[in-house]
Amino acid sequence: MVTRLYWHPIYLQHLTSPGHPERPDRLRALHSVLEGDEFYGLDRVEAPMGDEEAILYVHPESLAERIRAAVPEEIDEEERERGLAQHLTRIDGDTVVSPKSWEAALTAIGAATAAVDTVFTGKADNVFVASRPPGHHAERDRAMGFCLFNNAAIAARHAQAAHGAERVAIVDWDVHHGNGTQDIFQADPTVLYCSTHQMPLFPGTGAKDETGVGNIVNAPLSPNTGSREFREAFTSRVLPALDEFRPDLIIVSAGFDAHHRDPLAEINLDESDFDWATGKLMDRAERFSGNRLVSILEGGYDLQGLSQSAAAHITRLMKG
Ligand SMILES: [Zn+2]
Repeated sequence: MVTRLYWHPIYLQHLTSPGHPERPDRLRALHSVLEGDEFYGLDRVEAPMGDEEAILYVHPESLAERIRAAVPEEIDEEERERGLAQHLTRIDGDTVVSPKSWEAALTAIGAATAAVDTVFTGKADNVFVASRPPGHHAERDRAMGFCLFNNAAIAARHAQAAHGAERVAIVDWDVHHGNGTQDIFQADPTVLYCSTHQMPLFPGTGAKDETGVGNIVNAPLSPNTGSREFREAFTSRVLPALDEFRPDLIIVSAGFDAHHRDPLAEINLDESDFDWATGKLMDRAERFSGNRLVSILEGGYDLQGLSQSAAAHITRLMKG
């Protein structure tokens, strides 16, 4: 398998408040693991800046304008002398923007759409996008939950608009339910959204009976469950839905906060579970979508749990 990694240094410049779990160190930890010899063959490409028009695949212009207007100016000399380190603007209780956030968010969109182009033009079989800010909580009209724009949803629409994909499946194993992705596609039978997540937990959506137009498959997991329950949910709910849908592209909303070390949730997965789930999705990608699989980083807040799990995921993507 040829596996491409999209990354960009601008992702480290989207800053959040001190002590915020969604922080630049997440990507630093991941990049340090990816320096290992076993990742020598990874095709690393600097992500292009996204087209602002791509935001409009899934969000109204008013949301784009609201986010852009909220982005603060760089700090000036006088403010630095007063001891201020950075400007942050709050979008909601836990979502903030810093001076470089607009550029980072657009480059996250650029990576997501470039990843789709990459697998449809055969430049790689699959792609991992190591970007921030994450996206799956961003609803059509609302940025929330550390997310500004919904990168995975934009990637799905781009596959349809630019490459003629008829059916796109988004599989979301982040420990939080992707309320944003569900909100965007719940009336659209051309996109299948499957999610495993802890329930109850933020954001509160994701019950089994939220089924959209038959295109939403939620597999909630009880707190303090682990590998057995996750694999059972994947095997009995997610994989059969994919088999029936026969996607032209599989997009993974790859959060690694269901890892047992993660501080934000109580699901006890480890690296081997992400390796296993990746293998199952690659099997479906081989069968239905010419191996095309685009995986986009979402959450994961323990630096070791995140970096080791993402490494297991990427290793599987490379091996096939
Ligand atoms: Zn999460």
